[in-house]
Amino acid sequence: MKIKSVRARVFEWKGKTVPPQGNFCSNAMDLVYSKTESMSTFRFHSWTVVEIETDDGIVGLGNVALAPAIAKAIIDQYLTPLVLGQDPWDYEYLWQRMYRATHAWGRKGVTMAAISAIDLAIWDILGKSVNKPVFKLLGGRTKEKIPCYYSKLYRTDLKAMQDEAQKYLDQGFTMFKSRFGYGPAHGTKGVAENLKAVEAIREVIGYDNDLMLECYMGWNLEYAKRMLPKLEKFQPRWVEEPVIADDIDGYAELNQLTSIPISGGEHEFSLYGFKQLLDKKRCRWCSTTPTASAASRRRTRSMPCARPTACR
Ligand SMILES: [Mg+2]
Repeated sequence: MKIKSVRARVFEWKGKTVPPQGNFCSNAMDLVYSKTESMSTFRFHSWTVVEIETDDGIVGLGNVALAPAIAKAIIDQYLTPLVLGQDPWDYEYLWQRMYRATHAWGRKGVTMAAISAIDLAIWDILGKSVNKPVFKLLGGRTKEKIPCYYSKLYRTDLKAMQDEAQKYLDQGFTMFKSRFGYGPAHGTKGVAENLKAVEAIREVIGYDNDLMLECYMGWNLEYAKRMLPKLEKFQPRWVEEPVIADDIDGYAELNQLTSIPISGGEHEFSLYGFKQLLDKKRCRWCSTTPTASAASRRRTRSMPCARPTACR
């Protein structure tokens, strides 16, 4: 089996969009002055879909949401020539080829997302070629069920957030993730607003259900150190990305400071980045996203995790 063609197409939502209102969700842009809506670069209204076809007619699908037009250019110009004519079963060789060929300007961000789109399509081909779901090729089933959590609860008015939590509690969810709306720029008032929202959700879901709290990199180290002790009484399962992804020493400091597990890794891209986060217990939870390649996930899972670190 050989790869015959690679086609990357950008799909773009052209319809109406509604920008987030008010303090919808803290994010990394909150810490710099900006006249534009701060979430604009974190929203995904376009998507690149990669179709890889083999000489025996199997089509594998991959996708990339980060900077889709740039990802397409990287795929077309740099990655496609590296995989054309190759055997998709040589997936490790192909991943290394792409990773090393782009090493001078790749390694993180959109390049890794582009590599991941090709990698996902290759794994899709492998699954289809043996008529098995891809998870069977990545080690197979290890448990009967996987817990999932309700992840939305953006900052709106408190009653609306409570109604939302109640709705999904009624549907049977037992784990909930909410977003903070306020960060360092909002001062003491913002601290109080953040605490009010957590209290309001706990009022609805109680303490027999899990609550995770997402900062989306919208805090800095000083603000996180101010907030975390105040959050301890609400017993969050974890606080996610309190500081920017590159502040790995900040993660380490916060994990020492509080009993609340600190989560990170959503904006990491490879085994090397995850290793840095897990070393020295910088993070107790690591998250991966659908754009993290199957190969990286496989490697991440095979990496020894020092207790009490964990990967999800
Ligand atoms: Mg997150």
